[in-house]
Amino acid sequence: MLMMTTIMTKARTKISILDILEAIDKSFPFAHAADGDSVGLLVGDGKLQVTGILICLDPSLEAIVRAQELGANLIVSHHPIRFNSNGYFNTTCMANTYPERVLAAALSARIAVIAAHTNVDVAQVARCHWGDRLGLERVGPLSSITTEFGIPRQKDVLTDADPYGEVWSAACALSLDQLATRVAGQAGCSVKVYGDGQTMIKNIVTATGSGGGRIPEALMADADVIISGEFGYHAALAAVESGLCLIEMGHDVSELPLVQMIADAISLHSGIGEELLHREKRSELWRSISADTGSAQD
Ligand SMILES: [Zn+2]
Repeated sequence: MLMMTTIMTKARTKISILDILEAIDKSFPFAHAADGDSVGLLVGDGKLQVTGILICLDPSLEAIVRAQELGANLIVSHHPIRFNSNGYFNTTCMANTYPERVLAAALSARIAVIAAHTNVDVAQVARCHWGDRLGLERVGPLSSITTEFGIPRQKDVLTDADPYGEVWSAACALSLDQLATRVAGQAGCSVKVYGDGQTMIKNIVTATGSGGGRIPEALMADADVIISGEFGYHAALAAVESGLCLIEMGHDVSELPLVQMIADAISLHSGIGEELLHREKRSELWRSISADTGSAQD
């Protein structure tokens, strides 16, 4: 028994970057990613043994530095490094550009980068996160829309890989402002609301990240409101003009829970020690300043 424990412990300490890739694939199959999305092992040698993992939302220079400080040779990020496809990769002309600087820094620090992006977005656990937290009643996946002869149609047959949002119903009568207050409470930050605050809400769509692309689908689903990370002004204007309310919590805020989900998948399927898993707890890319006080707002 003691010998078995020793062997198992030894096996767990020899985990390769490819083992981590496989572990993520078990919970969030990379085959479910959107066409053309850069997911999987983007940078590095998959055969190397993992010394530590930083799991974060964005592959940034700060993430590379943080990984180095932690002694980690692998970054698993939700958003991919989006390579430019102009055929050039040299450190003369890309000195001040993103994401090439991140790529160069990762290579020189010998840090591998895995992206788990739309393959996580479409997973049920990700789609249902905010609706469950808000205490809504689940209706089902938001149907994707195809365009045929210029006419939008909802797909008749959905696969697990199709939807990027979820449809919900309010358990009891609820106004837009009451729902927005609930979202702000769960998100732990202020939210931006589009629409009349007294609008009564029955049908709700949730989508993490960029919700602007979900507006046509939400309208076809007869939704009263979409709760998402961000929409963009013109998409929001079109939604409001079509009678659809919006609640925007911030792209990063809406997707930070996915960092924990990716960490859970790695922990569950790879057996890597918890001491080697480092999670980004919050994004510090931006901050807001109040016009009244000039003070920073959390
Ligand atoms: Zn995103």
